[in-house]
Amino acid sequence: MTAEAIKPPLLTLDQVEALSPEEAHDLYGRHYSPGMAKMMAMLGFHRIRPVRSEGMRLHLADGTSVLDFTGGVGVLNHGHNHPRILKARADFAARRGMEVWKFFPSPYQSALCHNLAQIFPADLDVVFLCNSGAEANEGAMKMVEKVAGPRRHKIAYTDISFHGKSHATLSVSGSEAHQRDHFKLLPGCIQVPHGDAATLEKAFRDNRNADGSSQIGAFIVEAIRSEGCITPPEGYFAKVRELCDRYKVALIADEVYTGFGRTGKMFAFMHYGLVPDLVTFSKSFGGGKATLAGYVARRGLFEDAYGSVKHATLHSTTFSGFSEEVIAAIEAIHVLYDERLVENAAEQGAYLLERLNWLKGRHPGIVTDVRGIGCLACVRLENLATRLLAAVPGLGLPTEVVSKITTATVIAEMMARHRVLTFSPPHDVNLLLLTPSLIVGRADIDAYVAALDDVLSLNFAEMVLKFARRLAA
Ligand code: PLP
Repeated sequence: MTAEAIKPPLLTLDQVEALSPEEAHDLYGRHYSPGMAKMMAMLGFHRIRPVRSEGMRLHLADGTSVLDFTGGVGVLNHGHNHPRILKARADFAARRGMEVWKFFPSPYQSALCHNLAQIFPADLDVVFLCNSGAEANEGAMKMVEKVAGPRRHKIAYTDISFHGKSHATLSVSGSEAHQRDHFKLLPGCIQVPHGDAATLEKAFRDNRNADGSSQIGAFIVEAIRSEGCITPPEGYFAKVRELCDRYKVALIADEVYTGFGRTGKMFAFMHYGLVPDLVTFSKSFGGGKATLAGYVARRGLFEDAYGSVKHATLHSTTFSGFSEEVIAAIEAIHVLYDERLVENAAEQGAYLLERLNWLKGRHPGIVTDVRGIGCLACVRLENLATRLLAAVPGLGLPTEVVSKITTATVIAEMMARHRVLTFSPPHDVNLLLLTPSLIVGRADIDAYVAALDDVLSLNFAEMVLKFARRLAA
């Protein structure tokens, strides 16, 4: 027997299922993400082991369950393991359908893209499929680059934004924290203030070629900024559309987070009667069972860029819609309509906001702001950090660190005391971001708000001490 044939001590699937939470955490920290493993231990999450997840809940080995208000950070609009989406995948797998269609017209890709064309307005009806939000945004920017050419290569973006962590998408994200260590950014990316059409116009005017045409080829923006639930001022997008038309700038709407019903409309741009030139999407596109993303472009743009045989694969990717994943996405869109999940997001979202406002009234020194639209809401806890700084003289920690500890304490207590999963977005440590699945009901909202009310009513010093003890353990 050759040395190559000797099988190393690989874990089998049965052994994987039998790993204790502690063993899994140890392997995770050693071989996957040392940093995240530390974070999980700080929160006490390293002892949590869901064995099954359904709808709004994670079921643990000890028979208890956790209410999930993260919705898989936007991926689970349909809830965990939606039975129709599971069945669609399982049926396809059982009949051994062909997964990779590179050489024949895939009925699955064709049907999914046809269906998408039905839900987007106007001539937004040619689709590119890929794997992640960053890839979708980068693909959209590359398409505009191909059509606009080198004289119009610049891209405008807003200061309050996040479009991904590839070099190109980071270059158009208003996230200094992420850009600090990865500084090889694209030239020609112009930041403008969010919601400020006058400065956008100035940017279009200031960046001109000798013939008067704007050097800016694209403007990328989230119609509703997911982190912080930031909505634009009245009339902003009407003006943006008019400016983009006047200066021949392609308008890219990033719907990676907000797409497929999250904000109570199928896409966030629909709140403003806007028709973008390209729309990017990901997260819940695969119904929580497929890592699928993509963009849709106006027919003319797509054909100009990649309509010829010569240019058909100028921009492409290997994993551009495996059949089983595409089938999940087809079924996921049907489920949104059949179960009226977008309407439910709007209805329950209004109730959630009402309850959060009640909470704000109960904790005026702690909750400084609440916002929400559909199943996208946030709670600002800014003063918790300030209170801690005041309570512990000579603490000597920067406010940002104190904010992180205090928000983490709330998250840890929500899990430890109430078995509620909630999270803080990466760019704003003072926020709790609430992105429950669109299947959420009143009882879930009541349970979440009661849990947060209880945690915010706890003895603050005690809570932080407990957190510090966990840190030391
Ligand atoms: N755009 C928005 C609005 C996002 O929220 C994200 C990720 O959270 C991305 C793009 C990047 O998506 P991905 O992480 O799949 O690359």
